[in-house]
Amino acid sequence: MTLPKTPTTMKALVKAKSEVGLWMQDVPVPEIAPNEVLIKIHKTAICGTDMHIYNWDDWAQKNIPVPMVVGHEYGGTIAAIGSTVKRVKVGDRVSGEGHVVGHVSRNARAGRYHLDPKSKGIGVNLPGAFAQYLALPEFNVIPLGDDLPMDIAAILDPLGNAVHTALSFDLVGEDVMITGAGPIGIMAAAVAQRAGARRIMLTDINDWRLDLANKVAPGVRTVNVTREVPREVMYEMGMKEGFDVGMEMSGQQSAFEGMLDLMIMGGSIAMLGIPSKPFPVDFGAFVFKSLTLKGIYGRQMYETWYKMLAMLDSGLDMTGIITDHFAAEDFQDAFDLMLTGKAGKVILDWAGV
Ligand code: NAD
Ligand code: ZN
Repeated sequence: MTLPKTPTTMKALVKAKSEVGLWMQDVPVPEIAPNEVLIKIHKTAICGTDMHIYNWDDWAQKNIPVPMVVGHEYGGTIAAIGSTVKRVKVGDRVSGEGHVVGHVSRNARAGRYHLDPKSKGIGVNLPGAFAQYLALPEFNVIPLGDDLPMDIAAILDPLGNAVHTALSFDLVGEDVMITGAGPIGIMAAAVAQRAGARRIMLTDINDWRLDLANKVAPGVRTVNVTREVPREVMYEMGMKEGFDVGMEMSGQQSAFEGMLDLMIMGGSIAMLGIPSKPFPVDFGAFVFKSLTLKGIYGRQMYETWYKMLAMLDSGLDMTGIITDHFAAEDFQDAFDLMLTGKAGKVILDWAGV
């Protein structure tokens, strides 16, 4: 059931050509199936994935259909619901899980939806959220309380990556090393603090990002690996044997190697960072340290969402990771800023479009 007042065309950011860039175009408002809702988008956030698509790198060329509406981090309100939708109603404030999964695989049937092999990504394989409206299965909709700002709704997807990674291993009283102070690494540091970690080292090669980390997660020891030696900092921090838990959030070989070197015997590494190409790993060192390695993809459906909203409700403050706001029409300025690396999360506002 689509309400009569829903328009038939909308503005959207489209990967319209197989070249660098994105284009604001008029496209049809998506039709919703009986099990879907139509979300009126209020705010969206730009993700590293969107930058790959913008830059039209090798990964994007292989994976992104053209033309396609992009974007997957958003907050909005429900504008219309399909005929079988029961759980949400028009006007509800929502965000949504960006992986649309099947329901017949072994994992899905066991309730591990995030491990469904048929998973498709909003704004990657399916029409995205950088638009005035988004169609989404009811199953993926995350209802939000009235108190959660739309800006925060727009960054729940990457915060979920951080929460999923950080809660993969017990952090109470543990010493944690995080490589990569991008938005997700910084959010993971803040989550690890709240989850009871003792000492946290966060590394990067970009001072701007490390300064932002110091503001968003004060108390975390930030290290620019181009100037400081992480092992020496580790000793300064009072650790003798190494870090108990590692979170790799840069996708860089040298960062992973540095982490391997500083892990304690029997430690655990959660790896979220996506390497741009395969790299060799010293598995001998890995074996002799008796380490555990866990790959992290997306968010747990839906336990990560529950934990993340509960942590925000109990005082986790993520406002500082949002550094810039642009009107959606000014998207080019926003992408240009992202390209400089001097930004945390950048919000596009669709209200005035
Ligand atoms: P980002 O690119 O903004 O941040 C990565 C950071 O790593 C940058 O600040 C960069 O300066 C830093 N870095 C580069 N070389 C480094 C080095 N040698 N040591 C330490 N830091 C170094 O990315 P993000 O949005 O914060 O995401 C973090 C990672 O997670 C990326 O690799 C991204 O592709 C990946 N990711 C994975 C999933 C998933 O489901 N697995 C989901 C979202 C993002
Ligand atoms: Zn994202």
